[in-house]
Amino acid sequence: MNPVLPGAIVGVLGSGQLGRMFAIAARRCGYRVHTFSPYAGTPAGQISDKEFERDYEDLDAVREFARGVSVVTFEFENVPAASVEAAAEHAPVRPSGAVLHTTQNRLREKNFLARWGFPLARFRHVTSVETLRDALAEIGYPAVLKTAGFGYDGKGQTRIDSDADIERVAPALAERECVLEAFVDFELEVSVVGARSLANEFEHYGVIENAHRRHILDLSIAPARVGERVVREAVEIARAVLEALDVVGVMCVEFFLTREGRLVINELAPRPHNSGHLTFDACATSQFEQQLRAVCGLPLGSTELLRPAAMANLLGDLWAEGEPDWRAALSFPNVKLHLYGKTQAREGRKMGHLTALAPTVEEAARTALAARDALARSAVSGRGNF
Ligand code: AMP
Repeated sequence: MNPVLPGAIVGVLGSGQLGRMFAIAARRCGYRVHTFSPYAGTPAGQISDKEFERDYEDLDAVREFARGVSVVTFEFENVPAASVEAAAEHAPVRPSGAVLHTTQNRLREKNFLARWGFPLARFRHVTSVETLRDALAEIGYPAVLKTAGFGYDGKGQTRIDSDADIERVAPALAERECVLEAFVDFELEVSVVGARSLANEFEHYGVIENAHRRHILDLSIAPARVGERVVREAVEIARAVLEALDVVGVMCVEFFLTREGRLVINELAPRPHNSGHLTFDACATSQFEQQLRAVCGLPLGSTELLRPAAMANLLGDLWAEGEPDWRAALSFPNVKLHLYGKTQAREGRKMGHLTALAPTVEEAARTALAARDALARSAVSGRGNF
């Protein structure tokens, strides 16, 4: 298959920060970028040559978009299957619609992983209060109930600690298909961002350690503070998952590391991932350039980590007292500021991130957190101009 070379137009379904960072990487390599989403003036659209502001369900618009590009990729995994099929009539879609189909629904994803024998927390398909009771009898308390579709960052999930919680979740069960999974008493959360090329090469960024706050990623550090065995096993699992799914592109495998040292897959993301944002500043080839190389049929780049790194997310909460004074973060010389060009700050909305590089991960984490604290104080002290 002929590679898609610089100068060509790459199409991105979805227009958030992942598309934005992909578009920055693509433009740096001399590609042009078109984005497609229901919105205008988006984070990705701001960096693109052309922004299609149309609904994903508008299949004629999707076809027109795909006719104008050499390859289509995505940064948003809830694109309807019919839209991906419409795009695939006119341009290769990478990763394929089949990968998207499997990973955009937790139940399909877990069934797929279970069939291949990958390690998972125990789970049951739940469709009613009765099946929830049966599932709880098998799995026990505590457990986590998650909607099968459209769940991310803790949205559509709730913990169930006792029978008393069943009534609370009954209305949601009537509306949506759900999955009940065992609550994992984890020691750490870690992820492996991997890439697979058309020529079946595999590259990865090692193991990244992740801390969440209110179910949203808060801080990632690389390399993770885990032993060699965990690194070997996590990377082998990630490699096998990308192969089993026949991924061409970037995929993140998120894991729980249990207190007994066992790795359990939490979920898959068939695209660059928030935990891999630090690769933009800390690695020879970022996860976004790697996605570009993979979907364009080019050789993959070196994933070498140039220095230990930490990434702290900047959520809309930081804007509560007004626009932060960015000088507060930029006064840390080893901190890089990334803002996604979003005009509306909302609680929990990902607005940007900070990456810090240092001789050790501990120092990188301390620096990223100190820079973010300084930003929070800068807004509170009223120097903002929001
Ligand atoms: P998810 O959207 O499924 O990735 O969940 C977001 C976060 O919620 C995870 O990163 C964990 O911190 C927590 N979480 C989700 N599922 C479980 C579970 N089964 N056991 C313990 N914590 C969980």
